[in-house]
Amino acid sequence: MGQKYHAYSEHWPEVDQTGRHERMLRCFAIVLFSRIIGQTALKARLIGNIREGRVPHAQFFLGPRGSGNLALALAYARYLLCEAPGVADSCGECPACKQMDKLAHPDLHLSFPIFLSEKVKTCDTFTADWRALVLKEPFLDAAIWRDQLEGENKQLRMGVNIAADITRKLSLKAYSGGWKVMLVWLPEMMDASAANKLLKVLEEPEPRTLFLLVGTEADQLLPTILSRTQLVKVPALAEADVEQALLARYDDLKPEDARACAVRSGGDLLEAVAMAEKSEEELFVLFRDWLRACYGLRVHEAAEFSEHFAKMGRERQKSLMRYGLHLIRMSLLQAERVPQLVRAVGQEQDFVQKFGALLNERRVAGLREELETAHVHLERNANPKVLFMDLSYRVYGLLRA
Ligand SMILES: [Zn+2]
Repeated sequence: MGQKYHAYSEHWPEVDQTGRHERMLRCFAIVLFSRIIGQTALKARLIGNIREGRVPHAQFFLGPRGSGNLALALAYARYLLCEAPGVADSCGECPACKQMDKLAHPDLHLSFPIFLSEKVKTCDTFTADWRALVLKEPFLDAAIWRDQLEGENKQLRMGVNIAADITRKLSLKAYSGGWKVMLVWLPEMMDASAANKLLKVLEEPEPRTLFLLVGTEADQLLPTILSRTQLVKVPALAEADVEQALLARYDDLKPEDARACAVRSGGDLLEAVAMAEKSEEELFVLFRDWLRACYGLRVHEAAEFSEHFAKMGRERQKSLMRYGLHLIRMSLLQAERVPQLVRAVGQEQDFVQKFGALLNERRVAGLREELETAHVHLERNANPKVLFMDLSYRVYGLLRA
């Protein structure tokens, strides 16, 4: 989904082998200040503190969901560990930066909530998963992490063994001889015993050791922990920044839709992303069910779809045509037995397999032409109700001839 496509161009778009997650990876793999959207004033202040040698030994990056507090804390850690930091960002080239590209710098220690069990009491088992997930989605929240761990009904927690592990790791000598950073993601999920253990470490700070707590709920932390950390308040993103982030993530998202999602998101990028994806999912269901009605020559049903489409608004109608073209192209790739190029999951994948079996060269060429022509006519303000009814008959003819 989300393919860049010009309906009226002569050529099929270049085949893009990357799926959505890989595209995210391409955009965000390097946790640099310059790659993190918005938060300009805060970034400048964080960088200024390090450059002036004022690094409080414990800081709490407190921000609402989708604000980017985790990404900022990681960029901050990277800047501190970078061997040749510039005035506005890490160098991106030094060995420390290269290690941070994978979040695998030996002086960056990571702690996060897990499903505690008899067998698993510390984070190490999941560190590789956590890194990979953060590199895909640096705006990670607890729900996404829980999904990754596949434990819908389990509770994420940080037990006393994780706190003990933090103490142990900080007793090690710094690998690079400089700073050691301990990032604690969602410290509000610590058990009382873990929190008390953490408090002890914070009470007796070691030199050149930095604690970065990253969370969303200050009132669930011990007041004594809060009083020992400097608060870094990360505000919700500005609407314009959310809009820009959506457009960077989804090639096919219309600027109008990006703006609508941004406005409704309340500055929560994850919420905006969920809305943008839902909008694509709705397009899929509409397009699939309409196509089935056409194929079955269920005239009454096709007419109902045409009326529904007619009410959707011009941009959404055009999105539907572009989405249809994308789906047909995916079905063709499936039919041509190059499924490795098919970017479809779940229901969409199922559809692509079944529909691919129905396609031949003539049908594909015909469908392409019909949808592209419809797109052009929509741009020229054709009557959508007439257009979609007409299109339904033509598609029936193509698929049944
Ligand atoms: Zn560097």
